[in-house]
Amino acid sequence: MKIEIISTGDELITGQILDTNANWLCQQLFSQGLQPQRLHTVADNLNDLVTLFTEASQRSDIVLVNGGLGPTSDDLSAQAAAAAMHVPVELNQAWLDVMKQKFAERGRVMAKTNIKQAMLPQGCDVIDNANGTACGFSFTFNQARFYFTPGVPHEFKHMFSTQIWPDIATRFALNNKLVQYKITTFGLGESAIDALIQDVTIPAQLHLGYRTASPEIEVKLISSDADIIKQVAQQIEQKLADYVIFTSDESDSSAEKIQHLMLAKQATLALAESCTGGMIASSLVAIAGSSGYLDRAMVTYSNQAKQDLVQVSADTLSSHGAVSEATAIEMAQGAKLSAKSDYALSVTGIAGPGGGSALKPVGTVAFALATPTETYSQMLVLPGKNRTMTRKIACAIALDML
Ligand code: ATP
Ligand code: MG
Repeated sequence: MKIEIISTGDELITGQILDTNANWLCQQLFSQGLQPQRLHTVADNLNDLVTLFTEASQRSDIVLVNGGLGPTSDDLSAQAAAAAMHVPVELNQAWLDVMKQKFAERGRVMAKTNIKQAMLPQGCDVIDNANGTACGFSFTFNQARFYFTPGVPHEFKHMFSTQIWPDIATRFALNNKLVQYKITTFGLGESAIDALIQDVTIPAQLHLGYRTASPEIEVKLISSDADIIKQVAQQIEQKLADYVIFTSDESDSSAEKIQHLMLAKQATLALAESCTGGMIASSLVAIAGSSGYLDRAMVTYSNQAKQDLVQVSADTLSSHGAVSEATAIEMAQGAKLSAKSDYALSVTGIAGPGGGSALKPVGTVAFALATPTETYSQMLVLPGKNRTMTRKIACAIALDML
């Protein structure tokens, strides 16, 4: 199956926006066992578009074109498609009616220029756009099936998932869904992981890949055969035992995994963060539904804040220091008490570049987790090469403790 993706728009060429649509499309195709041979980015230029559409029609089975369906004069996709096929653009009355209705529903008057969005290459099939005024369209030209979609990401994604993919799957009788399994590790580099699992035989039907989601590293197993994945995963997990944080057949992150667990337990969480400065909270809150378990997050940066907000005693601070297991423990217990939560997590450390000492060098970070029954703590010297990296590693370790 030969597939090409064509992204159009001057704003892509000039670096104003990143082509996340093509990236998303590649992921969708990959999960279905397909890979495009070519990805193109083309400026809003009629001749370039016509040439590329013609070339693609002669060598590919599927061509996915994104962008350039707007009402303005720089949106040229429909015009270029028609020119490539040597057919005129025609008014599609049905879509014009839909557009008029969409405008009326929003209480807005449709500008004359919008009529352009109903001018489609003669003979094409319309692809409905539930979320916008630019319809998509498809047609067969030479040996290829072309699909045109607008650039607005949520419009484009919805159209692909609900109409284009089902059409492709039927048209090309595709049924080769890939299964993906992810082993998320922490504490080893890619090459160290590679060395540890080098004895594991990787069958030809299985694709093994690494992805660095710093500071975590994901080992991904992809195949259309779930049993093969299971067999290989078992061996790899055994070899990497101490370094595996979690495994998943969904595309979970640590934060998502924690959310699942906390919601299942119906437990609540409070945070007291010092050197991570809200980073842990931010990564948890990034997942929709976090309000189901996260009660509060306090950034207790100064000693005073540690005393005021999470009741760390002045004694502990002066005898053990702000970066110590004793302080971390009191932070977690204080946070748990003030939030009346089931769990509380705390982090306090020296992210650098200044502030280290011989006894507690830069990178020293203390963690504590207060659970309904116990409080766990640890103090580590993290290998982060700079402030950001040290804070990221601290965040990953804290999430791992949880
Ligand atoms: P449309 O066919 O919907 O008019 P277009 O190319 O004319 O597509 P623009 O008006 O240029 O769309 O952009 C609409 C919005 O879609 C903008 O917010 C733009 O940032 C976004 N967008 C366009 N193309 C892409 C892309 N390839 N990846 C991510 N975002 C995109
Ligand atoms: Mg554009």
